[in-house]
Amino acid sequence: MDLDDTPEQAAYRAQVRGWLDEHKSEAPILQGPGALEDEDEIVAARRVWQGKLAEGGLAGVTWPKEYGGQGLGPIEQVICNQEIGRAKVPGILDAIGVGMLGPTIIAHGSEEQKSRYLGPMLHGDEVWCQLFSEPAAGSDLAAVQARARLQEDGSWRLSGQKVWTTNAHFASFGLLLARTDADVPKHNGLTMFVIPMDAKGVTVRGLRQISGEAEFNEVFFDDVALDAAAVVGGAGNGWGTALTTLMFERVTIGLGGEGLGYSSTRFATAIAGDEAARRDPEVRHKLGEIASELLAVRFTGYRTLTALQHGQIPGPEAGLAKVTIVKGAIGAGDLIADVLGPGALAEDSEWAYMISFLPGLKSAGGTEEILRNTVGERVLGLPPEPRLDKGIPFSELRSKEGAAA
Ligand SMILES: Cc1cc2nc3c(=O)[nH]c(=O)nc-3n(C[C@H](O)[C@H](O)[C@H](O)COP(=O)(O)OP(=O)(O)OC[C@H]3O[C@@H](n4cnc5c(N)ncnc54)[C@H](O)[C@@H]3O)c2cc1C
Repeated sequence: MDLDDTPEQAAYRAQVRGWLDEHKSEAPILQGPGALEDEDEIVAARRVWQGKLAEGGLAGVTWPKEYGGQGLGPIEQVICNQEIGRAKVPGILDAIGVGMLGPTIIAHGSEEQKSRYLGPMLHGDEVWCQLFSEPAAGSDLAAVQARARLQEDGSWRLSGQKVWTTNAHFASFGLLLARTDADVPKHNGLTMFVIPMDAKGVTVRGLRQISGEAEFNEVFFDDVALDAAAVVGGAGNGWGTALTTLMFERVTIGLGGEGLGYSSTRFATAIAGDEAARRDPEVRHKLGEIASELLAVRFTGYRTLTALQHGQIPGPEAGLAKVTIVKGAIGAGDLIADVLGPGALAEDSEWAYMISFLPGLKSAGGTEEILRNTVGERVLGLPPEPRLDKGIPFSELRSKEGAAA
C-alpha cells in the first residue's frame, strides 16, 4: 500500500487544515493559560465546538451523507484526526456517540431511530453514553444482569445497575445492553435498548478518578418504563448489536492515537527541552523504543484501514493496536515524568491528564489480557480458554458473588 497521501487525500487534508486554520480560534481552551475550569462550562463549550466541527464536515466523517455525515472512508477519518491533533484543538465531545453508538444505530436501528437520534448526536445537541459494563460484567460482558421484562402491551420494565459509564452525567440518551431472557445461554438472551437518561427511575452517581476529572458514573435503573420502540436491532439480538459497538470501539481507540496526541515527535520535543535528558543514552534508547512501537501501530493501522476501505470488518488483530498504543503512551508518560519531575503532574502541565488517565485506558475498550487472549485464540490458533458456561441457560449459572443469577 502507498503510505503517502494520494492526490485526493492530500486535497482532503488541505481542505480540513484550511477549515481548522479559519476556525481554530473559536475552539474552547482546555489546557494552559486561559483554560476553562468549570466542568459545566467545559461541556457547554465543547458541545458548541462539536456543532461547528459537524457543520465544517469534521464530525461523522465516515457516516453516510443521508444522516449528516460526509460519506467518506476511514482514511479520511484518520486524516481528520491527524489534522485536529496538529491544530491542537479539542476533538468532538461525544466521541463515544459519534464513533461507536451512532454507527451501531446506523447498522442495526430502525429508520425512526436513525432519523430521530443521529442528527442531534452528530451536532453535540444530545450526548450519548454506553451502558454496557456492570460490576460483575466487564471483560465478560455477556454476563450482564440488568434485566428488562416484556410487558403485555409490548413495552418493557428495566431494573439493574451499570458502572464506568463515561459522560452519563450529561448524556441525553444511553445505549444499554440488558438481559431479556435468562432461560437461554448467556449470549442469546440479550437485547439492546435506547434509554432516555431523564426517564423516571434512572439515577446517575459520579465517580471521581485520580486525574481529578469525574468522567465516569454508576447508573441505577429502578423499574424504568421503556417503549417497544426503544429496542435496537430486535429482541434477543443484543449480543450481535453489542459486537458492532465493540468493533467500532476498538477501531476508534486504535486509530485515534494521533488525535489523542500520542505522537513520538511530541514526546521527543518535551524531553529534548531538558539538556541532560537529551544527551542521556538511556533516555534516548527508551524514546527510540516507544517511537518504534508507535510507528508499528501506525503501519499496522494501515492494514486495518485497508480492510475497512475494502468494506471488510477488521479482524481480531485490530485489538493489538490498542494494546500497543496504550503501552507506548504509558512508557512515554513514565519517561516524561522521570525527566520533568513532579512538575509533569502539576495542574497546568500538558502531561498531567495523559499520565493519570492512561492506566484507565488499559481497561477501556477491552483489557490487555482479553485482547491478547483473543489474538492468541483467533489469530495464532492457540487452544481456547475453557468456557464452562457454554450452552448453559444463564439462570443456571452462578454469579461472581455466589448468588444465583
Ligand atoms: C477509561 C474507561 C472508560 C470506560 N467507559 C465505559 C463506558 O462508557 N461504558 C461502559 O459500559 N464501560 C466503560 N468502561 C468499562 C470497561 O469496558 C471495563 O473496564 C472493561 O471491559 C474491563 O472490565 P472490568 O473493569 O469489569 O474488569 P474485569 O473484567 O473485572 O477484569 C479485571 C482484571 O481481570 C482480567 N481478566 C478478566 N477476565 C480475564 C480472562 N478471561 N483472562 C485473563 N485475564 C482476565 C482483566 O484483564 C483485568 O485485568 C470504561 C473503562 C475505563 C477504564
